[in-house]
Amino acid sequence: MEYNLPRGLRDIEPSEYKIFEYIRETFKEVSRIFNFSLMEPSTLEFLKTLEAKNESIREEIYWFKDKSGRDVALRFDLTVGLARYVAQKKELTIPVKLGAFGGMWRYDEPQFARYRWFHQWDIEIFDNKNIFYDAEVIDFVYNFFKRLGLRKFSIEIGDRRIINEFLLKNLKIEDEAKRMNFMRALDKASKKSFDEIWMEYRGKEIDKESLEALFKFAEFRGNRVLDTLKEYNLEAKELSTLVDLLKSRGVEYNLNMSIVRGLDYYNGIVFEVFDDEARELGALAGGGRYDPLPKVFGREDLGATGVAGGIERILLALKKEEISIPSTKKVVIVYTLDLQREALQLCSNLRKSSIACECLPEAKSFKKQLSYANKIKAEYAVILATKEFRDKKVIVRDMLKGEEKLIFLEDLTKYLTSNCAS
Ligand code: AMP
Repeated sequence: MEYNLPRGLRDIEPSEYKIFEYIRETFKEVSRIFNFSLMEPSTLEFLKTLEAKNESIREEIYWFKDKSGRDVALRFDLTVGLARYVAQKKELTIPVKLGAFGGMWRYDEPQFARYRWFHQWDIEIFDNKNIFYDAEVIDFVYNFFKRLGLRKFSIEIGDRRIINEFLLKNLKIEDEAKRMNFMRALDKASKKSFDEIWMEYRGKEIDKESLEALFKFAEFRGNRVLDTLKEYNLEAKELSTLVDLLKSRGVEYNLNMSIVRGLDYYNGIVFEVFDDEARELGALAGGGRYDPLPKVFGREDLGATGVAGGIERILLALKKEEISIPSTKKVVIVYTLDLQREALQLCSNLRKSSIACECLPEAKSFKKQLSYANKIKAEYAVILATKEFRDKKVIVRDMLKGEEKLIFLEDLTKYLTSNCAS
């Protein structure tokens, strides 16, 4: 009998976990310097909470009846939980700046860099609907990816209202549901060819000519965008304010009208982050303004803007960067059987001084113990040999250099602390 994992699930192995932790630590540090408070919303919600803004979400998530017959669901993002939490806490001072990190479950079709269980970091600002805070979120993203050490990434910014206006004014598409279909089709532009998208949407009241016109319009990139929008007579006041704010903050970005994002709850500025050297990974992070969500939870007074990044994708992007992540320096205590009690005592004392150390259960030959130290890439082996130990000394072997030193037992902690405490 084989014990495989369900489709789309995977284990995060120790070699990856190190990078995983590095991403989490970087996220925590950037949250700290931007004054975000960290929390974690519940992993399990009532299905109706997750369906609040999008009833068809049940097709894309894990939901089930609990033992009392209630419909519950695993969270598919952190945004809904954070919005629910803030909406209920009327006493919080606006803006509320929150960050979270954790696992998500989605019943997505598994493929490269797309899993059914994955992790996200997430920050959200609940504000008075002020573009200033969209800039703050994008500034966070810029600093986070810079600090991670990703060499070439780009933050691509779009504005759903402009696309909406283009569809309405220029293409005369009056029906809102229809316009949403056009936006969903455009959202696929970076992943699929026009023909593939057209095949998918042709039955959904979309005409080919309008779709082509929309795709052509959405090709505008970079500094030209604002001038082009003027020529088209389209309102881009907030986008120009955002551009000014980002310039003042020294943030590098790229305007890209094809960024609309799939989720229905966005209503303004939207953006995605890509690794320019690994576009095949898809977006590493995505976000934007979603004022309609707090409204669904009864807070029409609140606006909201935020971003979520996919840890597994960022991990894949970082693997190619050869970033050196400092790892814990380890010590193995090597001993002869008659000194096991002393070896264990020494081990406990070193651990009290925050030095990572261990010894093997029975004293095998020195050679075997040293070979273990080698295999786990220990920095040092501390050797308790009968004769030297009688003189209150131990042999400290630098495993990398192969050099040995005799050190008084009472000086050992100090020696190891200065050489390998993390
Ligand atoms: P979203 O919540 O859909 O806006 O996604 C935010 C980020 O999470 C994306 O930019 C991806 O990096 C990541 N992400 C979303 N879905 C998945 C998935 N199924 N597997 C891995 N990462 C994902």
